[in-house]
Amino acid sequence: MTRKTNFGAGPATLPTEVLQQLAAATISYGHTGLPLPELEHRGAPFAAILEECNALMRELCQIDNDYEVLWLHGGGRQQFCMVPMNFLTPDTTAAYIDSGYWAHEAMQYAAYYGQSATVASSAHTAYDRLPEWPATLPPNTAYLHLTTNNTIYGTQWHTLPAATAPLVADMSSDILSRQHNYRQYALFYAAAQKNLGLSGMAVAVIHRDMLAKANKNVPPLLSYAAQAREKSVVNTANITGVYASLLMLRWTKERGIDAIEAENAQKADLLYNHL
Ligand SMILES: *Cc1c(COP(=O)(O)O)cnc(C)c1O
Repeated sequence: MTRKTNFGAGPATLPTEVLQQLAAATISYGHTGLPLPELEHRGAPFAAILEECNALMRELCQIDNDYEVLWLHGGGRQQFCMVPMNFLTPDTTAAYIDSGYWAHEAMQYAAYYGQSATVASSAHTAYDRLPEWPATLPPNTAYLHLTTNNTIYGTQWHTLPAATAPLVADMSSDILSRQHNYRQYALFYAAAQKNLGLSGMAVAVIHRDMLAKANKNVPPLLSYAAQAREKSVVNTANITGVYASLLMLRWTKERGIDAIEAENAQKADLLYNHL
């Protein structure tokens, strides 16, 4: 099969075999014989899809049951909202590392909910490098937010120094693309369309200690605690989106993170040698 590739900004390409499996399931999902988008969102087949997604996320990120895995609506930017909504309080500050376009936008969203501070920035050098890691944080820092890879500028964090506040990471563009210590985060999230499936969705992985600190006055759809209680089904879930993520997780496991990391390094070499 020949296929066209969209090299513009936006959703990344999905492997052809994943698209084929998704197409087949859209018409008839496994033994149910039902079209995938018409599965009952509180029924057993969809519960099994979610459970396998969660198990694969835990396995591939090498995290255990101390973390909740949540499949949420609204892509990356809804996480820009949910993080401060759930963790910022009138007497705390949200600290942000401004390492590029996405990091900057995440920070601007926090300003709607309370006090935020830029604790490190490479804006003055047009984001051509990572900023220095902040030596100190404001008193009562609710969390320290960073973007592990800024797609537009290519500033990627590798190993992180210790921090005195819970770390929150936007991993939209590099989740499951390299070996990484996910256990250093209180919360990490990713828009699904770069490495994990379809646009309009996000996965958020949150440590239970962090979850216990979440604000109580958040509407259930946007509350990490409510989503955890309801196993990511507060409202009618994005069934097709979650299933696409499951197919990507299976594909990622079959490939292996090391192989994906090596292939990405090769692709980058090819591209940058050409430029
Ligand atoms: C693509 C991307 C986003 C944006 O996600 P949306 O789903 O379009 O809101 C956020 N953060 C990073 C690092 C990204 O690469």
